[in-house]
Parts: sequence; C-alpha cells; structure tokens
Amino acid sequence: MYFNGYSKQRGAVNENSYELGPIRPPSEAYSLLIRATRNCSWNRCRFCHIYKGTRFELRPVAEIKQDINTAKLIQDKIKEISWKSGYGGRVEEAAAMMVNSATNEAYRNVALWLYAGGHNAFLQDSNTLIMKTVDLVEVIKYLKETLPSITRITSYARSKTAAKKSVEELKELHEAGLSRLHLGLESGYDPLLQYMDKGVTAADHIKGGKRVVESGISLCEYVLLGLGGKQMWREHAMETARVLNEIDPDFIRVRTLYLSNAMPLYYEMENGNFIRATDEEILEEEKLLIKHLECHSNFVSDHMLNLLQEVEGKLPQDKERMLAIIDRFLALPPDERTIFRVGRRAGIYSRLDDLYDSQRRDIVDRLVDQLSHGSNEVDEKTIYTLMERFV
Ligand code: SF4
Repeated sequence: MYFNGYSKQRGAVNENSYELGPIRPPSEAYSLLIRATRNCSWNRCRFCHIYKGTRFELRPVAEIKQDINTAKLIQDKIKEISWKSGYGGRVEEAAAMMVNSATNEAYRNVALWLYAGGHNAFLQDSNTLIMKTVDLVEVIKYLKETLPSITRITSYARSKTAAKKSVEELKELHEAGLSRLHLGLESGYDPLLQYMDKGVTAADHIKGGKRVVESGISLCEYVLLGLGGKQMWREHAMETARVLNEIDPDFIRVRTLYLSNAMPLYYEMENGNFIRATDEEILEEEKLLIKHLECHSNFVSDHMLNLLQEVEGKLPQDKERMLAIIDRFLALPPDERTIFRVGRRAGIYSRLDDLYDSQRRDIVDRLVDQLSHGSNEVDEKTIYTLMERFV
C-alpha cells in the first residue's frame, strides 16, 4: 500500500469536496479514489497500523453516489477551466496545471486522475467486497454511468471475504465493471498467519483467490517480504510459493516489511519475540520464493521499500533473470552491499547499476562515511531508520 498524501477525511466538507481514505496500491497513483467503506473490517493484523484506533463502517450507497456526483462536478469545472485558460478543452493540460494549486484534496485527486486520462478508479478502503453484492454492483454501475471515461475499476479485498462470495456473485461484480481485486496474501504459512493475527488461513487464501480468478476479475496478490523474520523466513517463502502456485494470480506484488511503533509487531520485536531479518536475509527469502514459484503471474516489485525493485518479470520465463539480479547483489563484497543499501534507502540509488554512476557514488560514499563515523560500517538500525523515512 501507499499513503495517498491525503489526510483522512470523513464526510464531504462542502459541495466541492468528497471523502478520501488513507491508502491505495502503488499502481493506483493516478486513479480516481472513491471511498466505498471506511477503515478495516478486520483491523487486527500485527504488522499493520493503518486503521488502528478506527472503527469499520459501511457507507450508505446514497452517500457514495453523492461523492461520485461531486467528483463529476469537479471534473466539469476543470473542463470549464481548460476552455477559459486557452487549452481549448484539452483537460489533461488544465488538470496538470491544477494538481499543485488544487483547493482541496478531492480536487487534487480529480486533477491527477484527469491528467492521466481519466480511465481508472479505485474503491477505498481495505475490504470493499464486504459490501452486499447488490450494493457494490450499484456503486460500480453508477460510477461508470456518471463518469463514462472510466474503463477500469479496482479495489482491495480480504481473501476470507472473497472466499465467502460465490463465483456467481464475483462474476456479477466483474460484469458490472470490477476489473481487478488487490488481496493482501502476506504469507501462505499458517503458523505465521496465525502469529500475525491475519485472520485467514492458507486454505482461505487459496479458496478466495481461486474464486476471484474463476470469476474473470484480474487478481493481484500482495506478499510481505520479511514477515517471517529470522525465525520463519524459510517456511514463509516455501508456503507462500505453494499457495500462489495453487491460485495462479495475474499479479504477485511484493513489498518489504517495515516497523513502526504504531504496530503491535513493533512491541513483539522490542520484547524479543520477533527478530527482524536484514536486507540480505530478506533477499534470500525472496530468492527461495521465486525459485519455488511455478505459476504464470507477473511478478512486480514496485514498492519503494523493496531493496531491489528491478526484480520483476513474467513467470515462468523470467525466473532465472530475476534470480540472477538477487545473486548479483548477494555476490557483492560486504562493503559494496552496505554502499548500495545506504544509497537505496537514502533514495539515491534505484538499481544495482547505479553503484557505478560516479556522481551518485560520491554522494553515497560521503553519506556512508558520515553515518559510520569513518568506519564504513553502518549499523542495521541506522539503515532501517533511513528506509522508514519513506513510509
Ligand atoms: S486486513 Fe489489511 S488493512 Fe486490515 S489490519 Fe490486516 S493488513 Fe491492515
């Protein structure tokens, strides 16, 4: 997940604004965000702090429709501005101008969405499938009728909830216009799922995932690298691969665990029950996962917290190439690995080849010198701190 950059809002502030939830997947950065439910219907996962302290609520369909109406109103205003500002109705140009000068967050969201062509919408918050199918179908149809440029609608859901919907219901949602579901698989290893209080089993993941695939809705499964810590990483990787092989989703997206003191898992770490893995250990885990994947998914690593975002490709044909990238990093001498990790976590490097870019290298060398007080050894805590600045 990614934070929108929008603050949590509840209820339309005025006729020019609508409610926005706090997060969306990285791939939905330019989507129109429509908040279909509020917060998380489970809200117990130890590694997640997003909705802690909030209460889950279904929103009345009429209220969601009102937000869609407001999004249309803002769209029409931006179109009008395009004519008045000499862009001849070319809405992308007017929207680009407005992204930074938007009067509120809803305006900014509509401007970004129009700037990107106005084709995608994402239904927030964490488990839209929990809505009655009839209500969700109504919302999706209304969204498409009101804003006909939208051709792709996606949302988050829990595997357990997907497993409770019949394939016929999911097909109905697909026919109404639901294009893709993003499911937080996190792990396929039951003892780890239980320890993390994820509220699902591997069997639920398989059942829910397979139903989504059968319905024709595109499926993206999220895996949380590092979730097994030092104790369960092997089983986490192997069992996650097994579950994904059974589901065979369209997309497998990986993101790396981070810890904040707003998460119950942070206190598990503090009291020694959970031992956090290092970047190198997490890459060994990712390697084991990829090695055992026998599915036909697109493997995507587009989260900023992943050390090697370039480990991406189509399975099975790109498997060896992806593994070779991880091996290339692991074969670096220890001090070069530290240089890369610091450069990456400081946002200076994005790929391994950046190590050989002399300008960036100078900056990172200076940073390592500063962080290590001249010893070239930067402790794990410092690197984690650098990494977590991005969250
Ligand atoms: S189900 Fe998702 S949003 Fe809810 S607590 Fe778990 S990880 Fe967080």
